[in-house]
Amino acid sequence: MTENRQEQSPEDVLREVVKLCGSCGVCHSMMGTDCAFFIKLFQLRVLERNESIPASDAQLRDLADLCTLCSLCPCPKIPIKVMEAKSLYVEQSGMPFASRLISDVPRLARLCSTFSRLIEVLQSNHTLDSLLRKATRIHPDRELPSFPKKNFFHWAADKGLDQKSKDKPHVTYFAGCAAGYLFPEVGRSVVEILQHNGATVYVPPQQCCGMPLLVEGDRDRTLQLASANMQRLLESARAGDDIVYSCPTCGFFLKSLLRERAYYSDSYQKSVDAADDVFKVPAPGYEERVFWHLNKSMYQKILKDDGYFSSIDPLDRVELSDHLSDFGAYLIRLHRQGRLATDFAPRPERMAYFAPCHLREQKIGRPYLELLKLIPNLVIEPVGGEFDCCGMGGVFGFKEHFHQKSLYLATPLMEKMRAANPRVIVTDCMSCRLQFNHCLPYPVFHPVEVLARAYQERKYESGGSCEYH
Ligand code: SF4
Ligand code: SF4
Repeated sequence: MTENRQEQSPEDVLREVVKLCGSCGVCHSMMGTDCAFFIKLFQLRVLERNESIPASDAQLRDLADLCTLCSLCPCPKIPIKVMEAKSLYVEQSGMPFASRLISDVPRLARLCSTFSRLIEVLQSNHTLDSLLRKATRIHPDRELPSFPKKNFFHWAADKGLDQKSKDKPHVTYFAGCAAGYLFPEVGRSVVEILQHNGATVYVPPQQCCGMPLLVEGDRDRTLQLASANMQRLLESARAGDDIVYSCPTCGFFLKSLLRERAYYSDSYQKSVDAADDVFKVPAPGYEERVFWHLNKSMYQKILKDDGYFSSIDPLDRVELSDHLSDFGAYLIRLHRQGRLATDFAPRPERMAYFAPCHLREQKIGRPYLELLKLIPNLVIEPVGGEFDCCGMGGVFGFKEHFHQKSLYLATPLMEKMRAANPRVIVTDCMSCRLQFNHCLPYPVFHPVEVLARAYQERKYESGGSCEYH
């Protein structure tokens, strides 16, 4: 894509997608109710085929705005093409103020915590509130998230976790924006769990992973953030640290999307001693390095490191991906090695666990479900199927044009959750948490909060302090 992207307009790219998916049709049935993008795409396709009315530029613009990069659709190249089109729109006409504001969580957090009193006043006055929502294009039915005054990174710095102690292996923690600014209790719980298991935690300087900017089409900022975080995290990897993340979207971005197509690069092929006539690519699903050998003459036209992130060193992208672990998967590995503390206090409650899209796309199972089952008397039931999505799409659910669509997409999952009627919902995605908070009456927690609390309550039973008592 990259070499001819200057020649292509966003409309060209989207017409290609409509043609490709329109003639394939698989997602017409498969994604028919789970993805607003495909619902619209096949409507345009039918108009084109039955009434020879080609999609207008405005319709294609709207179409692009409907993809939230959940990655549930089967062909990774389709959403990436849509991201390419979005970045071409931004290069053409810049990023709208509202999208820039809502996709930059650290800046939004600084604004909201600095001017919290002013925002309260604005929101308490109906006229001013609607003006604020008009400016930010946030749907009137959506409650604006409130940003705690003390974010996780300030708390971590107060604990000295932003400094590395000499001559000790560390576990480096990439918290991400949601745990960093919106739900700092999630970040604190990760630190508590690691320390309870004897780890020395390091919270390096970090920025947004880049996913919200990718979905909004800001290519330069996406690549900038990805490179900055990658360099920082590779320092930890090369120092021998384990690196964990607690947000499936950050994980999917840094571990899967960023690495996309890097294996096809010359430098990677050289690094695995591939012969001149074959591509050597890791076979998915193997812990140890097992390779597929693909005939180069057959595949060299399609297997290229020419994707969205090809301007970033492919060996660095692979190295980072190899060193990053979902925190749940990391704890399960410790457990399998007999190194995880299992002194959890009993919790006689019934909870429902939802495995978010970006966890499912990493193909690592549902580690937190397994971990939560280690808590005595806790009944934890998985809710949601292969294509169930909360519909929030990061921050898209807040947007005027996407609010109703997000509720429509969420309907099957919300009905299943109501039918399960749990006392508590548990999910690792904080965007899902916002949608569950909007749609359902049940309290919602990240699994690490439930695990950390179970450790604390056990400590309390044996005479220690505990914030829940
Ligand atoms: S995403 Fe893939 S499977 Fe789905 S319609 Fe498009 S080409 Fe077909
Ligand atoms: S990535 Fe998600 S939102 Fe985008 S087209 Fe695929 S299924 Fe739809």
